[in-house]
Amino acid sequence: MTDRYAVIGNPIAHSKSPLIHAAFARQTGQDVSYEAILAPLEDFAATVSAFRAAGGRGANVTVPFKLEALALADKPTERARLAGAANTLRFDADGIFADNTDGIGLVRDLEERLGVHLAGRRVLILGAGGAARGVIPALLERSPALLAVANRSVEKACELRERFASYGRIEAGGFDAFAGGAFDVVINATSAGLGGAQLPLPQGLFAPDALAYDMVYGPSETPFMIQARGLGASCVADGLGMLVEQAAESFFLWRGVRPETAPVLAMLRDG
Ligand code: NDP
Repeated sequence: MTDRYAVIGNPIAHSKSPLIHAAFARQTGQDVSYEAILAPLEDFAATVSAFRAAGGRGANVTVPFKLEALALADKPTERARLAGAANTLRFDADGIFADNTDGIGLVRDLEERLGVHLAGRRVLILGAGGAARGVIPALLERSPALLAVANRSVEKACELRERFASYGRIEAGGFDAFAGGAFDVVINATSAGLGGAQLPLPQGLFAPDALAYDMVYGPSETPFMIQARGLGASCVADGLGMLVEQAAESFFLWRGVRPETAPVLAMLRDG
């Protein structure tokens, strides 16, 4: 019998996850279906219960429910607990397993596809919302020389520093605090580009061979990628690879099979 999975969010119509998981299923020969479910803002838990009762085996969870997803879990992983948010649920006989695969998705895209290794490097993350919090545990696990968090609301960056201070060297501040910081990797985890706003990036943010990575993605270069190149970043990338990698990790958690990500990323790029 076909095993059912879904992505649950609000809004959800734009999600590429059904396309990605259908491609993984074809590639690996797994008998699974994957649908997009719009959950009412006040009714996430009831939506999950209804899907589970209807035979659902697991779900991805996206904006704005990742915190609630963690709260539903009987068995959260350490990295999901640290992030305070989950994007993957698996409905086991002994309860709900929850994980956060965003961080490992980002790290795989950086290290395996783009060949940028984080150990000993200076890494800056722009933004202190759910996306930043979700990836910080995985970034710190790679032992960067420094992980800095810059955010418009400085107190939110400082909160993240306090939350993760015992896991590695982490600094926090506003954008200006990191002028001249010469970072090797700068990751945009803000939603500024979605509204067309430019980030107030100071001079000297990028080391000479720096990578600027935007978690946002689109059909062409994002505003952050263009801005970063203008400020001296030698390589730029968007977050489509991260999206495919986090999906592959979810697929692995559900099915025990790891799909090839490169052909699926190529398929999405071709539209
Ligand atoms: P949140 O709403 O939780 O946080 C938004 C962040 O953006 C905050 O740090 C906020 O700063 C900052 N911000 C928003 N507008 C501006 C602006 N005009 N200038 C400066 N900073 C701004 O969103 P998420 O963290 O959940 O998501 C952030 C982005 O990451 C989204 O675009 C999302 O699509 C993307 N993402 C991509 C993934 C992928 O797989 N590629 C996975 C997850 C997320 P402040 O605190 O000051 O308000």
